[in-house]
Amino acid sequence: MKIALCIKQVPDTTDIKWTENNTIQREGVESIINPYDIYATELALSIKSEINDVHITVFTMGPLQAEGMLRKVLALGCDDAVLISDKKFAGSDTYATGLTLSRAIRTVLPDFDLIICGQFAVDGDTAQTGPNIANFLDIPQVTYVKNFEKIENNKLFLTRELEDGLEFVSVDFPALVCVLQRDIDPHRATIRGIMNASKKQIKRCSISDICLSVEKAGIKGSPTYVSKAFRNVSSHNAEKFKLRKEDSVKLLMDKLNDLGVLNDV
Ligand code: FAD
Repeated sequence: MKIALCIKQVPDTTDIKWTENNTIQREGVESIINPYDIYATELALSIKSEINDVHITVFTMGPLQAEGMLRKVLALGCDDAVLISDKKFAGSDTYATGLTLSRAIRTVLPDFDLIICGQFAVDGDTAQTGPNIANFLDIPQVTYVKNFEKIENNKLFLTRELEDGLEFVSVDFPALVCVLQRDIDPHRATIRGIMNASKKQIKRCSISDICLSVEKAGIKGSPTYVSKAFRNVSSHNAEKFKLRKEDSVKLLMDKLNDLGVLNDV
């Protein structure tokens, strides 16, 4: 089975700054793997541990320094990595990102069985990239995936987590899944894994390698126009208390009393 795993580097900060084009300032900010992509990686690794002959190729579209993140997931047990990097990709919105990733997957891994993405990236947070890739490749997609159950009769069985409960679904291959945070402790790389990863060749793909025209990539290929970006300021004043359960009721009553709310009851 051939798995394409898509992971993204995100800024390691909660203090997001904006460029003059209203895009996220990424230069000069430490980067980490998108937290949801850690769980996407775990899902790929759990399939690999249960089924024979699984090969995981990791894809990221990003700057050259994303190579460090790719080596980290190679150290966890992924097999190959592809860095899709070209100045012409700068300014890509989710549409252009989905198109670029789908072209890279089709070029490098044309006979893939499964594509695994995180559900969200914590910086852009649109949850559109996975569905876009599935759309461009014309394959079925399963979002909000919590767990991998089994593979049987060439079908993948999964658990989805929705607002009103869990849903058990199956999908035929080839397919794409988007993975939520899972109730597991992610793997840590072993020394041997790190040493093996350091020796691996990371494949690089430019815009010409994936046969994408300049008009369809980066800012030119991005229909989204960000007119304004701003930080949401809460209009409510809130106080936080760390209390024992038995003290919290008294505190709440006192506060409501101070506000005069209890007099009206
Ligand atoms: P989501 O859709 O929330 O991510 C879901 C999953 O998709 C991730 O968990 C991961 O598995 C996969 N995924 C997402 N992005 C990638 C990726 N790059 N590689 C591999 N897998 C991925 N971002 C920049 O970095 N540089 C820019 O110059 C830039 N310019 C932009 C300009 C505009 C007008 C807009 C609207 C956005 C721009 N962005 C830029 C942000 C960029 O479009 C998004 O970060 C990207 O499309 C992913 O969307 P998202 O963050 O909402 O991810």
